[in-house]
Amino acid sequence: MAYEPPKHCSTCGAPLSEVAGAPGQRRCSSESCRRITYLSPIPVVAAIVEHEDDVVLVRGHGWPEGWFGLVTGFLEPKESPEEAARREVKEELGLDVGESALIGAYAFAQMNQVIIAYHMKAAGEIKLDSAELAGFKRVPIDKLRPWNFGTGAAVKDFLERRNLNPPPQAGKG
Ligand SMILES: [Zn+2]
Repeated sequence: MAYEPPKHCSTCGAPLSEVAGAPGQRRCSSESCRRITYLSPIPVVAAIVEHEDDVVLVRGHGWPEGWFGLVTGFLEPKESPEEAARREVKEELGLDVGESALIGAYAFAQMNQVIIAYHMKAAGEIKLDSAELAGFKRVPIDKLRPWNFGTGAAVKDFLERRNLNPPPQAGKG
């Protein structure tokens, strides 16, 4: 399901052609249209959801067996990325986000997306949106391991920073 650049003009339907010197553009081949289509990546928000000392990973319908990932979603008009990520956590898991922190922004070339990732501390009782998701699992933060594509880069940075700056352990030590 990797990204494929569009092949036809969205205005008139004529085939698109490559543009010399501009790999991020396609030009309509119709002489009367010539509209430029931009192949700009689309922003996607992602959340590492921390809930009761675990991270909650989710699984989409039709994903290969055993695959779980971060809560992700697209922005709605006028939303900030952070607002979009909060909304997705609420919609997909039914949880309310308190503190949140930006982890970073990552190119996901295979999907022509830019992933804007947050660490979000969430509270409440998990109510999975089963229309959108097939399941979830809780992973203790110490057991979380990054995967080598997509949102995995954000998980890697999150864990590296956490190891450099461990959170204070209330009531221990
Ligand atoms: Zn056209």
